Amino acid sequence: MRRKLIVGNWKMNGSVAANAVLLNELKAGAAKQHCDIAVCVPFPYLAQCQNELVYTNIAWGAQDVSAHNIGPHTGEVATRMLLDFECSCVIVGHSERRCYHHEDDDLVANKAQRALAGGLTPIVCVGETLAEREAGETAAVVSRQLDAVLSVLEPEEATKIIVAYEPVWAIGTGKNATPGMAQEVHALLRARIGNKNKAASDSARILYGGSMKPDNAKELLGMPDIDGGLVGGASLKADDFLAIINCVVA
Ligand code: PEP
Repeated sequence: MRRKLIVGNWKMNGSVAANAVLLNELKAGAAKQHCDIAVCVPFPYLAQCQNELVYTNIAWGAQDVSAHNIGPHTGEVATRMLLDFECSCVIVGHSERRCYHHEDDDLVANKAQRALAGGLTPIVCVGETLAEREAGETAAVVSRQLDAVLSVLEPEEATKIIVAYEPVWAIGTGKNATPGMAQEVHALLRARIGNKNKAASDSARILYGGSMKPDNAKELLGMPDIDGGLVGGASLKADDFLAIINCVVA
């Protein structure tokens, strides 16, 4: 049985003062839950999360990582730097990085590989645009994106990644994939992981992301291959994020 995981993606939001309030509310509300919880925050707030969340049941991580380890890469942040702040996970290949920062499948794969090699869990995002869905290309797109990452990993490493299916048309739009639509893609992604490592297909956690809210989380999280959520907007309000967490039953 895979334990569910709810990850908040703060994107480029927050301030030291606002984070202090949010983190305290989350700590109070998340103490006795039936799932794993993490928040992925902007780099400057990692130290604050480390201070606030150490010895709690909320893990923390970043929203991107460099494919390089050291050297002339102005503006980039290496895995080993994230580990200095005790991050446990990092998002790679978020559609906003792919769309607005032109990250391609190879770069995302290199980032995932570098994170894993350093001891961080990459949360590998895949997902189709609306045009791709309407053209019937969803399966091909998400398979290509995931296979690019799997192709640079050893079979054993395939057990250590988390995948997030995030249809681009559902992110921040208020339009979520139906549970049935998401389940179909999650089952496909699980099968692709199985091509690399059969055992990994059973253990891999595949999260859904895209306008997950308190009122749709229960149904989505009830699907057999949906192992949790990657939550953007709703993770910025403690009540909403905790309501989603509360949808996970024992
Ligand atoms: C995200 O940022 O990964 C995301 C899924 O955002 P939202 O929940 O706001 O759609």
